[in-house]
Amino acid sequence: MELRKDYVLNRWSYIAEGRGKRPMNFSKPIDGDPKKHELFAPGNEHMTPPEIGRRERDGKWYLRWFANKFPAVSTDGDPTIHTADGNYTWSWSYGYHEILVETPDPKQRSWDFDVNQVHEVLQVYNERTTELLSKDHINFVSVFKNSGREAGASLPHSHSQLIAQSIIPPLIAEKLEFGAKDGVCAYCNVVQREKDGVRKCFENNSVVAFTPYAPRSNWEVQIFPKRCVNKFTELSDEELRDTAEALHFIQTRLKIMSAPYNYHLQYSPSDKKLHAHIEVIPRMNSWAGFELSTGTYINTISPEQAAEFYRTGE
Ligand SMILES: [Zn+2]
Repeated sequence: MELRKDYVLNRWSYIAEGRGKRPMNFSKPIDGDPKKHELFAPGNEHMTPPEIGRRERDGKWYLRWFANKFPAVSTDGDPTIHTADGNYTWSWSYGYHEILVETPDPKQRSWDFDVNQVHEVLQVYNERTTELLSKDHINFVSVFKNSGREAGASLPHSHSQLIAQSIIPPLIAEKLEFGAKDGVCAYCNVVQREKDGVRKCFENNSVVAFTPYAPRSNWEVQIFPKRCVNKFTELSDEELRDTAEALHFIQTRLKIMSAPYNYHLQYSPSDKKLHAHIEVIPRMNSWAGFELSTGTYINTISPEQAAEFYRTGE
């Protein structure tokens, strides 16, 4: 398993050959007992790697997290980055890869959760992020959810993933570079403007959600705490609940469209300023040749039109 850098660019790739063996149980029917294939369901706990933690109600778990059986990264090798012959820069794929199962019910999707459940999921993200960031050689913990096959989920049972890495990913590095100038947060200004604008989708006491001015996909949404915090762990529990309310609201709208989607947390892993936020990226249109060749995105739904759908549900 290797982490490799592009010849020239600040662009990195993990080579994780073992992940090709992941179970893909979207396509049924399957042979034998279907229960056997519900890897994340109660009764099959022995089929996952050892549990790291759980939350229980009445003696039964409703959130459960453990190492990914098919990790993209591991701590089996050396995190030191080497360069040979000028063009080949690599290290071991160093890090921790965890799964958070968000419900015991294999059929429940996260857009069916109530706000409490989303809130608890965010609380566990915070707990795990804090723990993983405290470990040696870990410089960023990527927290993300893939919902639906088109969004890259290999199993339909609702879950999120955390990948703790040795590098600061380029997208985060770019946000750290441009997200604040002379110590003044660029995003605070964005939040103030979008809060009262045509792209606003949702607002409560602590949080505003809007479709970004220049989205990467149709229906993209960004959720920002109004208070400028570097990490979600800096939010009060009430503010975190308000964040959950926004994420819940957006997902209920995505349910109307049966949209596959990804969401992920963006934050500063260091003291450097970056206004923490969540990006929700529906995958109704696919990135193709133009997007891959240019890093520029074609949208067929304007963010203003998308925001109206989020506000009204129509
Ligand atoms: Zn800010």
